[in-house]
Amino acid sequence: MTIRRTLLDAIGNTPLIRLNRVSDETGCEILGKAEFMNPGQSVKDRAALFIIQDALNKGTLKPGGTVVEGTAGNTGIGLALVGNALGLRTVIVIPDTQSQEKKDMLRLAGAELVEVPAVAYANPNNYVKVSGRLAAQLAKTEKNGAVWANQFDNVANRQAHIETTAPEIWEQTQGKIDGFVSAVGTGGTLAGVGIGLKAKNPGITIALADPPGAALFSYYTTGELKAEGSSITEGIGQGRITANLEGAPVDKAYQIPDAEAVKIVFDLLEHEGLCLGGSTGTNVAGAVRLAKDLGRGCTIVTVLCDYGTRYQSKLFNPAFLREKGLPVPAWLERPGTVRR
Ligand code: PMP
Repeated sequence: MTIRRTLLDAIGNTPLIRLNRVSDETGCEILGKAEFMNPGQSVKDRAALFIIQDALNKGTLKPGGTVVEGTAGNTGIGLALVGNALGLRTVIVIPDTQSQEKKDMLRLAGAELVEVPAVAYANPNNYVKVSGRLAAQLAKTEKNGAVWANQFDNVANRQAHIETTAPEIWEQTQGKIDGFVSAVGTGGTLAGVGIGLKAKNPGITIALADPPGAALFSYYTTGELKAEGSSITEGIGQGRITANLEGAPVDKAYQIPDAEAVKIVFDLLEHEGLCLGGSTGTNVAGAVRLAKDLGRGCTIVTVLCDYGTRYQSKLFNPAFLREKGLPVPAWLERPGTVRR
């Protein structure tokens, strides 16, 4: 137990937790990398730290400068917290469909928030493109300059997982790992951990778990980028091959319906005390599918992406679930406080 000098040293080195129900059900060891235990409560703290450090090292980001990013929320939270610890300003462009809790947290962390309508990447008003233009503009007007974090196409993102997440998983499992599964937002986690683990043992199976509405399941199974449907999961679901995804060693792909993902999220909370967001459900459902494909006795690692309280108004809200046609667990409907 050492003393961390700043918040930055508290990012990463997360525990690997055995997910007991799905492990027992499949006869495999299904292990979750507890990324929700990072200071910003998500896997994106690692990418935020590496992107900022890379820009500072290259000199494109100056002390007192501004970091601009388009994000579904978690990367912005990571950038804002790391930014505060380093005396940087953050400006975050977020699609208005993202949960209120993430927007509140961003404001709390001092980020300047720009909310834009959620439109496809091809549209010039897409949040990623707006953030790129805003960064170029602020680079000219801000006293200490500005940089665009550009998490989708900035490979400092996946480098975080090559250099930290993958070696941690390798050490924690003592090399006894047969497969790794992850959903994709930017692709930093899947590609970075995939590259890092394959460097240790090329025999490890790397698998994608994709939500409906994303194009990657189709890409990795047929070679064609094609998307159908939609999902309530947040932070995942990609329609293109980002720079972070280029060359990603993906051996298998699964498409996970929302009903399958949310059931796992509810079970993990009810039976194992793990309070997690929707993308974790997609990941763990993917791990179950891979465990069944690889057979009993295998060890599979996946990512517990972010903390569930970030989604109380949606994923854990019976009215929202009913509106989306998703099953509501009985315990979620029970009255709250009982006074005795
Ligand atoms: N889950 C959540 C909740 C996220 O916010 C993200 C990042 N957008 C991911 C999963 C996917 O991570 P990556 O960007 O590394 O693909």
